[in-house]
Amino acid sequence: MNLGPLIMRWLDELAECSEDMVELTRRYLTPEHAQAAEFVMQRMREAGMSAWLDAVGNVVGRFPGRRPDARRLILGSHLDTVRNAGKYDGALGVMLPIACLKTLHERGERLDYPVDVIAFGDEEGLRFQATLIGSRAVAGDFDPALLAMVDEDGVRLHEALRAFGLDPDAVDEARYRRGDVAGYVEVHIEQGPVLEAEERPIGVVTSITGATRLRVEVMGRAGHAGTVPMSLRRDALAAASEAVVAIERICLETPGAVGTVGVLRTMPGAVNVIPGVVEFTVDVRGESDACRRGALRSIEEAFKAIEDRRGVLFDYVTTHETGACECSPRLVEGLGGAIAAEGLEVRELPSGAGHDALAMAYLTDVGMIFVRCKDGISHHPAESMTGADAGVAARVLLRFLDAFDPGDREPRDQELRDREPKDRKPQDRGSSGRDADPGGVAAPEPGGGEAGRAGEEPDGTGGFA
Ligand SMILES: [Zn+2]
Repeated sequence: MNLGPLIMRWLDELAECSEDMVELTRRYLTPEHAQAAEFVMQRMREAGMSAWLDAVGNVVGRFPGRRPDARRLILGSHLDTVRNAGKYDGALGVMLPIACLKTLHERGERLDYPVDVIAFGDEEGLRFQATLIGSRAVAGDFDPALLAMVDEDGVRLHEALRAFGLDPDAVDEARYRRGDVAGYVEVHIEQGPVLEAEERPIGVVTSITGATRLRVEVMGRAGHAGTVPMSLRRDALAAASEAVVAIERICLETPGAVGTVGVLRTMPGAVNVIPGVVEFTVDVRGESDACRRGALRSIEEAFKAIEDRRGVLFDYVTTHETGACECSPRLVEGLGGAIAAEGLEVRELPSGAGHDALAMAYLTDVGMIFVRCKDGISHHPAESMTGADAGVAARVLLRFLDAFDPGDREPRDQELRDREPKDRKPQDRGSSGRDADPGGVAAPEPGGGEAGRAGEEPDGTGGFA
């Protein structure tokens, strides 16, 4: 069985749903999003699933299991894209699981447990500058303040949901109940060069790295490029340059950390003036919070040493911070076991980019499979992967699904139902109608899950993804 060609054909067809004739751009809650959602729901129904749009515009497809008391597994990824995107980022993790379940359906097979495939409406954050809206709503971590965010045309999320045929006051209904969910598994292109360099079709993600961003201002003293002797200068750019090189060295020497200075501005910025002030950004990511914090401490020490030596001042603020999100050891092991059963060596690697799994970690255990992509290129029309690799990933996912033990659902007893309203956040809505839902969509119990929380601040630099 090779599902590669089917998956690649679906991905080509899905890429037709674009706001632009030439390049692929599909923003959240646009007509093209609706068109893509319709395409996905049709493929889901052909795969023996029931399918619908949830309260925040995610597509949900439900594949029933043999045991009604088993917890459900959620598979999925996102349908929205960046501007001028590739065909595989997000879409692969939606279409590949549907192809796997279609295979089971056509063989007349069922898994022990129910599976939901979710095509999240917003991950990239292109339209409202707030990432992971779809998965945060499902995870029960949606901040109603987001409803006031506006897109570039001044349309608020509140109005966009309405225009999409949804009730903005009912977003809460998209959330799942913790006790009913066994885990979340996402298949995604790697968006990096590691698997290709090692000639491996797929890998297992161990963690989604945390990130800290700083905005740094170096204050020296401007002066005439001809009259101030070298020994009397406080050149802010020379000091910043030392800092940039120190950041590179520190992150090279800290296992699991990467660091980037992506923006640097010199003031006053004239050919014959010694730079008086320099601003630059720092983006440090780490596989664990400990390694990221360790690298940041060393960077601060380096700033101090440069201050002392050069008589300049480093002033910096943190503009963004997210903790690392560890994938569940149980899922890492299960996915690794499925890869080994396919006769492949198991390659574990961290994800340097953010994904829906980051938001889903607020709800449940998460695991991810990365699929090799050409030249590590993503968020670009040149994004590419092979049908053969899609086929391998589909076989691995099917093996994983076959071996996965979801555990039983927690009983939905009266005591818990009585407790929920006062435990929920004050801005949350009432919960009428929740029990009528067949799929256990309801308020999660309080507590836990903070480690993987995607508490991003919009910093105007394009999100974490
Ligand atoms: Zn993605």
